[in-house]
Amino acid sequence: MSNTIAQNIENILSKITVLAQDADRDPATIQLLAVSKTKPVCDLIQAYEAGQRHFGENYVQEGVDKISALVHLPDIVWHFIGPIQSNKSKFIAEHFDWCQSVDRLKIAQRLNNQRSPEQQPLQICIQINIDNEISKAGITPAELPTIAAQIVQMPHLKLRGIMAIPRATSIVAEQRESFARLAQLYQTLQNRYPDIDTLSMGMSGDIRPAIESGSTMVRVGTGIFGHRTPAPKKD
Ligand SMILES: *Cc1c(COP(=O)(O)O)cnc(C)c1O
Repeated sequence: MSNTIAQNIENILSKITVLAQDADRDPATIQLLAVSKTKPVCDLIQAYEAGQRHFGENYVQEGVDKISALVHLPDIVWHFIGPIQSNKSKFIAEHFDWCQSVDRLKIAQRLNNQRSPEQQPLQICIQINIDNEISKAGITPAELPTIAAQIVQMPHLKLRGIMAIPRATSIVAEQRESFARLAQLYQTLQNRYPDIDTLSMGMSGDIRPAIESGSTMVRVGTGIFGHRTPAPKKD
């Protein structure tokens, strides 16, 4: 019999604690983001009941539907982590707490204009295409200083850090190499903007090297909710 969602969360949290301690880091500085794309609302409720509060969604419509269904749980923190079409940015600005996949100035400007001044600023990570893959969203490392300087000027956005999905590989040395370059970029950005606090890297398959390299947020889908059905959902 497979583990329950609550057991999976407990296992991952204890793994995070052990890995952090091994790396001489405070486990409290590492956030677990539950990536719930394609999973039904009842699965999210199970995770919530196990204490999970940060949830990540990749598809705008699916995410907005879940946010509406769970509006009675106001302490959930919703992260948008998928590719952004500009005609959907309004829904992200209106409904989510974070957007981790900002990858161009135009999207940042739209989110800033569409975020209501009555809401908290939208919490932003800039997505980096760290291994320069055509299949992935994200800016190049060289573009980071310019876009960061523009985002910090926007009153309805709050820059928190960077997010990346390195090239898929099971070779740990390669995982470490991408994470090390991300950590270096993050350090440089934090020297410039000392209040940024988020280095979002690491997923179900590479939590260990991510935490050893300094991740402050691991985004775990399969490891919590089990395998996703293959058919990808489109917006
Ligand atoms: C799907 C997804 C994840 C989670 O991946 P798993 O391998 O299932 O843990 C993390 N980050 C992003 C951006 C994703 O799209």
